[in-house]
Amino acid sequence: MTATLTAPLSPYRFFHVSVERTCLVGPSTVRVTFSGADLAHCASLGLDQSLSLFLPRPGQDAPVVPLEEGEGWWPAWRALDEDVRAVMRSYTLRALRRDPDEIDIDFVLHGDLGPATRWAARAVPGQRAVVLGPRVADNAAVRFRLPRDADSVLIWADGTALPAAEAILGTLPAGLAADVWLDVPHTADRRPLQTPADARITWLVGDDAPGARPGERALEAARTTARRGTRPYVWLAGEADAVKAMRRLFVRERGVDKGRVTFVGYWRRGSSEEELRARRAEKVSNA
Ligand SMILES: Cc1cc2nc3c(=O)[nH]c(=O)nc-3n(C[C@H](O)[C@H](O)[C@H](O)COP(=O)(O)OP(=O)(O)OC[C@H]3O[C@@H](n4cnc5c(N)ncnc54)[C@H](O)[C@@H]3O)c2cc1C
Repeated sequence: MTATLTAPLSPYRFFHVSVERTCLVGPSTVRVTFSGADLAHCASLGLDQSLSLFLPRPGQDAPVVPLEEGEGWWPAWRALDEDVRAVMRSYTLRALRRDPDEIDIDFVLHGDLGPATRWAARAVPGQRAVVLGPRVADNAAVRFRLPRDADSVLIWADGTALPAAEAILGTLPAGLAADVWLDVPHTADRRPLQTPADARITWLVGDDAPGARPGERALEAARTTARRGTRPYVWLAGEADAVKAMRRLFVRERGVDKGRVTFVGYWRRGSSEEELRARRAEKVSNA
């Protein structure tokens, strides 16, 4: 599979990559570093830049993505047998480096439940993957858009959105008031976060509250936190129901203009990404 898609005006393209190395960045997260000559063409603003990652099925040495179909790859991929076509999942481009060209993706290890987490837990150097990612740095897969007049930022992320939150925090304007709630499973998942902002970071550790639903304690914490500034911008990402509840809190209870709230469900309890994609497609076709 050597074809490369570069639609003339598309801000995205496919990149052939292979695993360079892996390391644990906490008990719940493995960082996989990918390399590949194609990555010379990758460009990113950072922040919450997301990408689609294609992984091989068990027994395959490379993911099956019909790149030879050019712009028609998507229907062609969907038409393939589910046991053959590559596993396709959304991830955050945690870092892009030069000399050598490398990218990092931080995978939450959420048990043996899904093919992507299973793959990441066992990844070894040399394994092949395909990325559909940015060739133009400013693109629609960067959702964090700080309004120019924002005088404060409110962030909620669970472990899946921690890579994005970490990247966002690193780029906030110096001194900007930032209230940040981060849900992680274990105490050792907490890590020092660098930011020039005037940030109040609250870690909510799952082990401290067994049985709590994702985002439940963040909701309480956000509800009782004194507001800083009058023109806030809110960014929420993680488990879909928790994101929805947090959005409702900020818009309905705390009076934030809904146009100043960016919210993205990164996963949904009980549904695989395929199931979520299928449900979205069904809604669109019924609309
Ligand atoms: C824009 C975007 C960016 C993302 N960035 C990242 C990232 O940087 N790092 C990251 O780890 N994830 C990220 N995700 C989330 C990731 O795509 C999902 O967690 C995905 O479901 C993992 O695929 P899987 O094959 O492991 O599990 P799936 O096959 O999709 O799901 C199998 C089962 O696992 C459950 N599940 C999925 N994720 C979790 C979880 N985190 N905890 C507990 N149960 C879970 C599902 O509900 C389902 O029951 C991102 C998602 C989006 C939309």
